[in-house]
Amino acid sequence: METVLLEEMTWPQIRKAIDVGYRTVIVAAGSIEQHGKHLPIGMDTMGGYSMAVGIAEGLGHALVAPVIRPGCSDHHMAFPATITISEDLLKELCRAYCRCLSQHGFERIVLFASHGGNIQALKEVALELDAELPCMVVSPNILQDPRVEEATDPILDRYGVTREEGGIHSGFVETSLLLASSYGHLVDMQAAERGFVGDVWARIDEAKKAGRFSMADISPVGVLGDPTKASAEAGREMLAATGPVYIKIVKESLRTKDGEAQV
Ligand SMILES: [Zn+2]
Repeated sequence: METVLLEEMTWPQIRKAIDVGYRTVIVAAGSIEQHGKHLPIGMDTMGGYSMAVGIAEGLGHALVAPVIRPGCSDHHMAFPATITISEDLLKELCRAYCRCLSQHGFERIVLFASHGGNIQALKEVALELDAELPCMVVSPNILQDPRVEEATDPILDRYGVTREEGGIHSGFVETSLLLASSYGHLVDMQAAERGFVGDVWARIDEAKKAGRFSMADISPVGVLGDPTKASAEAGREMLAATGPVYIKIVKESLRTKDGEAQV
């Protein structure tokens, strides 16, 4: 296989792959949203591709669908270029993807969010589609699995970066990961600025309770974390540490229809 990306393949190549046993397909749901002054708005889509390819290669006999975007990014609308869709529309896109992929012969669909705002919609629609379709549909919550932070914490320590600076949006972690990827040339480190580095979840909860969750109120530059110390080297270390964790999480979520673990 020269590529695992469905969109780079012809239909005869895809038919042959399915016939010889490539029956798992990975679908990431990313976003088109502001990522500070230094990262492109396609960050979560690019991240989705890189995570999905790593997972497909790790699982074996798996292909990667075009990353779904835009995603649910209402809280980033104060910044230009963010394009957001409703949870209902995201679910509808997932339904279309999964119904088509199932019809084409895929037996297992791994639907995961590479953007936090998509997690809840994916979780709900995956349960619905798993019941509806002859194939298995799972939605592992990779982004929020504590094992991912456990794998990156020692690296942050080594670089003298706190977890808050590592950040959940455009901070040290996300910036280093993009620098280490084939999209590294799109990062503008000169423009990188420190954003909000306090208790981010408390701040988000507070904003949601007040009925007004806008990223611009929390960080005027649109960054949760501190990207200024980010490096490709740190990104490569994080990719190496998190890759096997992602695969483990996905394998755990794949189970047989009768609920038996299939790891
Ligand atoms: Zn992001």
